[in-house]
Amino acid sequence: KHQELGDALVERRRHEVTIVGAGLVGSLLAVVLRSRGYRVTVYEGRRDPREGTQENSAGRSINLVATARGLKALSTLPPDVATRLKALGTKVYGRVIHTSEGEILAQKYGKNDNEYNISLSRSKLNDFLLGEAERAGASIKFGHRLVNVKLPADSESPTQLEFTMGGGGTCLTACFGPVIGSDGAGSALRRAVPAFEASSDILAAGYKEVLLPAHCSQTLDQFGLHIWPRGDHFLMGLANKDGSFTGTLYLANEGDLSFSSLNSEEKWRQFLNEHYADALPYMDGVDKAAEQLYNNPLGMLGTVKVAPWRVGNRIAVIGDAAHAVVPFFGQGMNCGFEDVDCLAQELSTRWPPKDGTPQKLEQALESYSLRRKPNADAIAQMALENYVEMMRSTGDPVFRSRKAIEAA
Ligand code: FAD
Repeated sequence: KHQELGDALVERRRHEVTIVGAGLVGSLLAVVLRSRGYRVTVYEGRRDPREGTQENSAGRSINLVATARGLKALSTLPPDVATRLKALGTKVYGRVIHTSEGEILAQKYGKNDNEYNISLSRSKLNDFLLGEAERAGASIKFGHRLVNVKLPADSESPTQLEFTMGGGGTCLTACFGPVIGSDGAGSALRRAVPAFEASSDILAAGYKEVLLPAHCSQTLDQFGLHIWPRGDHFLMGLANKDGSFTGTLYLANEGDLSFSSLNSEEKWRQFLNEHYADALPYMDGVDKAAEQLYNNPLGMLGTVKVAPWRVGNRIAVIGDAAHAVVPFFGQGMNCGFEDVDCLAQELSTRWPPKDGTPQKLEQALESYSLRRKPNADAIAQMALENYVEMMRSTGDPVFRSRKAIEAA
């Protein structure tokens, strides 16, 4: 009898899923796994961002674009949740190219107005998904930063996770069910498990952000993704819900013309006047732009490839923890959302729920990782190729005339 009770408890605990990282992908995953009957606990290193106590995020990727891939993946969510999520953002119907010759060229994404991407505030999207995860019944433990993982010795033993706590001290937890790392490109979970082999390729270019305030950018088309291609560097602008735009300048980290050579506000002023004079009115003039670009933090960019995505039956990675890509294709989060969608499909097609009985996640994780890995590798390559397109080809007359012919 004792043995039976013990077995039942172990079986029940197998349906407890632990997610490490409540970013965009981890919180979406929590919503989806709750809808499949799992008991979900999420550990997040930061404090709850909805309390508004986070350090200032100025200059740190304020918005991102959800494309058709990511939007399609949201079909995993209850329809009302997907609709409310989309309403958080601004529709983007195409690219608007601002050439160095002063031309402004519009390139629509599709032939009709039903084809658009959505520009979303990263923090609003994260807050929304955290709220939905909690509403769905997931337990989110903020201020828990994973520092170590002890793999189970056998199938009956738990995986042990060690966290440092926001208020100081450490905490150990035993997980009998699957543990999924969605803790981003630098994943602590991945690093703590040597069987996950990862390679990182840091790009020689980085990015800084600059705000285009609403009162200066009223004449900038709100429904376009703006690109100022300048050959070896480029500026990109995306609308925010309040009418402002977030500008992102991509430039080499080192060299004659680079973030390291632009080491004073004066040098930034000269650079901006020379290359981005047409964008300066939207930035409230050269002084404000130079001040922001000098002071804002420099973001690093890179590609992380991981193999395998699953170690044993009970530990896996997802989202950037499995495949960080450079942002030029706007597909990092979208690809992470597709991972979640793929996992959900594997759960429902292979093990249909019977009267609410939770399905086997271990096997779904295996099929998910085999299906998604080649796609993530392809997106990583395409994202690198799009770097050249964004920086150079969009401003190249030959490319423009080809696009014009295609559009006609
Ligand atoms: P993250 O968003 O990195 O979330 C990881 C979470 O884990 C965070 O909450 C973090 O606090 C937590 N965490 C980290 N370490 C620990 C730990 N040890 N313990 C517990 N918790 C931990 N993608 C797009 O699809 N479209 C775009 O337009 C786009 N634009 C981008 C622009 C820029 C400049 C950059 C840099 C990226 C862009 N991306 C874009 C990529 C996108 O930001 C990422 O792909 C996406 O954020 C990945 O989500 P994630 O949840 O996997 O990881």
